[in-house]
Amino acid sequence: MLEWYDGHARAFPWRISPGSAERPDPYRVWLSEVMLQQTTTAHAAPYFQKFAARWPTVEELAAAPDEDIMAEWAGLGYYSRARNLVACAKAVVERGGFPETEDELRKLPGLGAYTAAAVAAIAFGEPATVVDANVERVVARLFAIDEPMPGARKAIRAAAEEITPCERPGDFAQAMMDLGATICTTRSPKCLLCPLSAPCLARAQGIQGDLPVKAPKKARPERTGTAFWIERNGQVWLVKRPSKGLLGGMRALPDDGWSARKDGSEDAPIPGAWKAGGVVRHGFTHFDLELGLAVYAGEKFTSLGEGEWWPLARIEEAGLPTLFAKAALLAMAVE
Ligand code: SF4
Repeated sequence: MLEWYDGHARAFPWRISPGSAERPDPYRVWLSEVMLQQTTTAHAAPYFQKFAARWPTVEELAAAPDEDIMAEWAGLGYYSRARNLVACAKAVVERGGFPETEDELRKLPGLGAYTAAAVAAIAFGEPATVVDANVERVVARLFAIDEPMPGARKAIRAAAEEITPCERPGDFAQAMMDLGATICTTRSPKCLLCPLSAPCLARAQGIQGDLPVKAPKKARPERTGTAFWIERNGQVWLVKRPSKGLLGGMRALPDDGWSARKDGSEDAPIPGAWKAGGVVRHGFTHFDLELGLAVYAGEKFTSLGEGEWWPLARIEEAGLPTLFAKAALLAMAVE
């Protein structure tokens, strides 16, 4: 792997080329690893360069106003990472520099197991085992670990620990990452070009494309609910959803209290005549909803509670979330 890495290492602004006499700067290694969580290398690279140019040392980053850091981070997403970055930089400066072991690095605020191992191996040459999604795939295939994820993680980690060398552990970690990203890819691994093709058990068994075995998909719960369309003089009754919870604080049609955990009660906000107006289907992250539309056919509009009459001609400006926008379109088509 090390030989392969010497000839095939990917070049990144945070990397020292293999064979270089330069020592990796723990600040740059740490900064890049934080940025690379949930972000591709191509997307993270320009951000890394901006940060490293504006704050070339951890001391400068720690002294920067939080809002400047957050502004530079904008676009990288997962803002809790930026907040952790600030807290961690301050803690590093307070203790007089980065600690050099995985265990000590782990004690820094917001620095998780993966980042601690990566910094320890790459910046300080500690034989720490670095397992990201790329490494996970390579190891699962190399050892033909066919237990489904995430249960397979324990066996993958144990196997990865076994092959982590004491010589150049940082380069080994980066070699494994590069192999997973360029050769041992999720689809169509290029086994003929792979330096591990001789010992690879999955290749020998012809099962490389099936590994790692994905977790069985959980069935998504299906919920039902009702939204109520109450129209008067070219206006529709809209309410504001509670500030906490799903679609919190957004304008919406009144509904019957459905949520991710329970179906709606079907209780209408006012008594009287209602007619069915059709059904809207919508997928949220954790569940699917079948929302029936009930259209008010009565004439009494007393005690509607909190809400507002909204002109139908300006319904697009109400900022209705997609689900209720679909329901509104349906109601207006029914009329
Ligand atoms: Fe992956 Fe194929 Fe290499 Fe095995 S031989 S590690 S499956 S690329």
